[in-house]
Amino acid sequence: MNKKSWLNKLKIAFPTITSIVIVSLLACDSYRELSEGDFRFDGPLGSDGAVIEKLDRNVFKITLGHAPNQPDWNNKLNFQITGNARGNDLVLVVEGPPRYAMNEYFYSWSYDMENWNPVHWKAGYRVSPEIDTLVFPVFENDKVYVGHQVPISYEQVEDFISSIEPSKYVNVDTLGKSLGGRNLYRLTITDPSSDIPLGDRWVHYFSNSHPGEHNAQWRMIGKIEWLLGNRGSDMRKRSICHFVIMMSPDAPQKGWYRVNAQGVDMNRSYFPDGSDKEKQAHEPYIFQRDLEMIMESESPVTTLWGHHTWGGIVEPLLYLVEDDRTGPWTEWRDILQDLDHNNLIKPLAVREGIPGYGAISWEYGPHVQFGITTVLCEGAGAIYTKEENKKSGELLIRSLAKYYKGIKE
Ligand SMILES: [Zn+2]
Repeated sequence: MNKKSWLNKLKIAFPTITSIVIVSLLACDSYRELSEGDFRFDGPLGSDGAVIEKLDRNVFKITLGHAPNQPDWNNKLNFQITGNARGNDLVLVVEGPPRYAMNEYFYSWSYDMENWNPVHWKAGYRVSPEIDTLVFPVFENDKVYVGHQVPISYEQVEDFISSIEPSKYVNVDTLGKSLGGRNLYRLTITDPSSDIPLGDRWVHYFSNSHPGEHNAQWRMIGKIEWLLGNRGSDMRKRSICHFVIMMSPDAPQKGWYRVNAQGVDMNRSYFPDGSDKEKQAHEPYIFQRDLEMIMESESPVTTLWGHHTWGGIVEPLLYLVEDDRTGPWTEWRDILQDLDHNNLIKPLAVREGIPGYGAISWEYGPHVQFGITTVLCEGAGAIYTKEENKKSGELLIRSLAKYYKGIKE
């Protein structure tokens, strides 16, 4: 008896049960493995120019595109599986242009873009910087998101800003638009009802220039959340904190790691002799001009931070200017060490000498232009969760609150 006639006989005997059996069999028939059409590379987390090719059942090769005007700089592997992932596993063989190895950092996957799970490369960039493999587990939901480090899209940064904007301690400045038409934000957090005059408050400026270094953005969000909580109350009264969470907001949708739409490395875009509308890259000009206006105000910046990632745990490096108003910098180092129970941060250190690239970075540049202490805040390539990245930011800002005691004068 073949399957069909067997079902027909059954249908006569038990019509309802048979219908359920038939529907179940049809459902099994509709199960399918992943195909190229299930992948999308132009969502909020995207990868411009990525090409996908099926090699075997749930095995694909992805060839990455490159940054604008930078044929050797791979775009990061951000994508979405738009449906049909449930029940499928996934193996990706990824190949990309050689510069800034596409597999230097871990990636993460998620069903909802909020709860992320790390996924690690098989070979690693020291062994195989241009081609490597990611292996994912069998998925339990149909939609899946994948992105660099612990990702965050521009839209999610905007959502975060909207969520804190109602606070009376938060002021959101839109300084202009990116070349892609997205808002360029600077947030200012301070307590407007504090008795301490604005000119007497310590001022800290926190930025992120490399848009694909998402762990650095979470580190900044950790700082903001602590500062807006109950424990940030004292610091809010006697400090002004500026935050630029994402200097190149067009990047996450394209998978750009270091650049803006002009292909300019965002941390080689600072003009230490002064911002220049004609010669400078678009977004860096807007942010530097804004910083220069803060420096000319009654509340100039005391410390300026550039947040980045490289391997290992968080690594803050000082371009130090000795300051009579504070204790020795080693006191700050010891405060931070005492706070860091989870070993998320290397001991604060002074970075001696001039960087090979000169004063065109967003850390060494402002140090030279304004003679202020700046912090190249690196590392966290080995911190695999959103929570720990945020925690590292919390520890850093708590160390600032303790080291910069009282008020400026
Ligand atoms: Zn960087």
